[in-house]
Amino acid sequence: MIDNLPPLRDVIRTHDLRAKKSFGQNFLLDLNLTARIARAAGDLSGADVLEVGPGPGGLTRGLLAEGARKVLAIEKDARCLPALAEIAAAYPARLAVIEGDALAVDVLEHLTPPVKIVSNLPYNVGTELLIRWMTPEVWPPFWDSLTLMFQREVAERIVARPGSKAYGRLSLMVQWRANARIVLSLPPEAFTPAPKVASAVVHITRLDAPRFPANAKTLERVIAAGFNQRRKMLRAALKSVHPQIEDLLHASGIAPTARAEEIGLEAWCCLARHLDGEVK
Ligand code: SAM
Repeated sequence: MIDNLPPLRDVIRTHDLRAKKSFGQNFLLDLNLTARIARAAGDLSGADVLEVGPGPGGLTRGLLAEGARKVLAIEKDARCLPALAEIAAAYPARLAVIEGDALAVDVLEHLTPPVKIVSNLPYNVGTELLIRWMTPEVWPPFWDSLTLMFQREVAERIVARPGSKAYGRLSLMVQWRANARIVLSLPPEAFTPAPKVASAVVHITRLDAPRFPANAKTLERVIAAGFNQRRKMLRAALKSVHPQIEDLLHASGIAPTARAEEIGLEAWCCLARHLDGEVK
């Protein structure tokens, strides 16, 4: 779609949008690249898209050009609003912008299902937002999929499998209720200014129900305890969780001498059920 909007370098010059570190600003100025990220989110035509941190709007333009029914963008930096208003004018009634902190804004009242979240996240709040989106009070959540840019190292933690150094709480929290894969890797030079590290886009699609039954709070608590002392054997790392932890580990098919990073999701869920007394 031709939207007659100016190149992003001109937008940045016109509106004097010099990137600020305090806002975690690393902009994507290549519209071919932002279109690729938008396409990684799948068919957008019947969906509302939530975008956190649109900045000068490169990804926003990709999402609209790829056919998103509506984009709701939340931006903390007021300097970006005039540039975003130009995009809103080029796509009548399809872009709504809220000035504010994505950690504080209640988005639900502005969105109609199905909802996809697509963002080049500010690195300082990316993991926190992901954890919030993955741990709502009730499941399924308000969104169907998340297509998110992270530092490569964080992306690797999200998709990691047991036995790897990257495997941990983030891997388990996401993989318990969703499928996650890395769909695009980007070098620092893809951004303006270039960050110090490489980035990657992770595509996460939610399951209707968790992969294995377990109480969310119990599961989070036992996984946190296990990985907080990841070099220790589980019988020691989980001692504070339950006085008879060794018996419960045996009952769950887990060797008490194993370490947290060797244990797969199904066994963690089984242990959580034993802790809750759901398995006799
Ligand atoms: N999406 C743009 C792009 O791809 O070029 C900008 C991405 S930049 C990595 C992150 C953006 O998030 C910046 O525009 C920044 O101002 C904004 N931002 C930072 N913290 C935020 C917060 N707490 N809530 C909403 N936006 C935030």
